[in-house]
Amino acid sequence: MTHVTHLECSMTGERYVAGEPHGLSKVGRPILVRYDLDQVKRDLTKEQLAQRTEGFWRYRELLPVEKAENRVSLGEVVTPILPLRRMQKKVGATGDLLVKDEGRLPTGSFKARGLALAVSMAKEFGIEHMAMPTNGNAGAALAAYASAAGIRTTVFCPDDTPKVNVDEIAFQGADVRLVNGLINDCGKIVGEGKEAVGWFDVSTLKEPYRIEGKKTMGLELAEQLGWTLPDVIFYPTGGGTGLIGMWKAFDELEQIGFIGPERPKMVAVQATGCAPIVKAFEEGEEHAPVWQDAWTAAAGIRVPVAVGDFLILRAVRESGGFAMAVEEEDIFASWAEVAREEGFLLCPEGAATYAAYRRSLDEGLIKPTDRALLFNCATGLKYPMTAEVGRLDRSTPIDYSQFKA
Ligand SMILES: *Cc1c(COP(=O)(O)O)cnc(C)c1O
Repeated sequence: MTHVTHLECSMTGERYVAGEPHGLSKVGRPILVRYDLDQVKRDLTKEQLAQRTEGFWRYRELLPVEKAENRVSLGEVVTPILPLRRMQKKVGATGDLLVKDEGRLPTGSFKARGLALAVSMAKEFGIEHMAMPTNGNAGAALAAYASAAGIRTTVFCPDDTPKVNVDEIAFQGADVRLVNGLINDCGKIVGEGKEAVGWFDVSTLKEPYRIEGKKTMGLELAEQLGWTLPDVIFYPTGGGTGLIGMWKAFDELEQIGFIGPERPKMVAVQATGCAPIVKAFEEGEEHAPVWQDAWTAAAGIRVPVAVGDFLILRAVRESGGFAMAVEEEDIFASWAEVAREEGFLLCPEGAATYAAYRRSLDEGLIKPTDRALLFNCATGLKYPMTAEVGRLDRSTPIDYSQFKA
């Protein structure tokens, strides 16, 4: 029960058959899944969808899993879209400022969407061992979903990946190795080990199904907003899976008649310490060369090179959006500001989108009337917080006036 017709190379359009595992296309670019959307249009109504309860599996007609028993689920929820009312007021915007809070998903990040789909497809294909490079969240989602499916995993992390992420991956059943290099160096190890070990490479965009999982963010937000789209979406961009996936989702929704041709401006947000997509955008290039000495503590967007660079850039340009790099200080000041003033604990990558939103308003790149949607991609609890905490000695008389100041 799937509406998949075939797969195709995102660069050349070359076709591949569905129903068997694929990695990159012959020219080394991502492969996309194609559906019989006329059939989906006949089979699925908005009313039917509204009656379904289960998280993103509600969109099964637009997902590639053939047999229901192969769906690997850890209890995915429809993630809430919440207003940042106090921040909106503070920046003087009249259009809604919204956050889609992906930190509510299993494993605490939106990587759950992509890996739920990739692991479900691996189960369908009988794959027994999967491997990936990760800065943390993708590895945790792979470990959890693969363990749920009884699939073995090997995960490679840059050796400065925060301990909490590394432990999370190992604790959920993966064989984890710390590597003295960046995520692309780890990716090379996975690629080169394929023949010797026989594992399946589930690196970002190097197989077709993580995009399909991330696509559900676009389907979900459209349904949540009453089949309308925001004016602008700020997306913290690493490998760009989510941005590419949402762009694909909007096209599919239009083709099944659920939305019209309108699109949000797509804004790719990066950190100034690792901004390959921003540089390529500004230089009018279609591809983004490797960013040297990449650094940002927002690990989810510390991705020096993206195999789907041209797909990110295409979506951003077609949408009339832009790419923006925000300063490290600005990311962490925004993180603290939104937590303190709004009571919303973003992750630093999510905070980067708020920083970019504010600057875009200042620079007139978006209008104060625009309805803007930010992505908070993970729970802020996975990141070390620095806060000032005072001490109190209960063995001496307490001066209560200090609490009024
Ligand atoms: C993976 C990740 C990103 C980047 O997502 P892509 O879709 O790969 O660009 C951003 N933030 C966090 C917290 C992540 O885990």
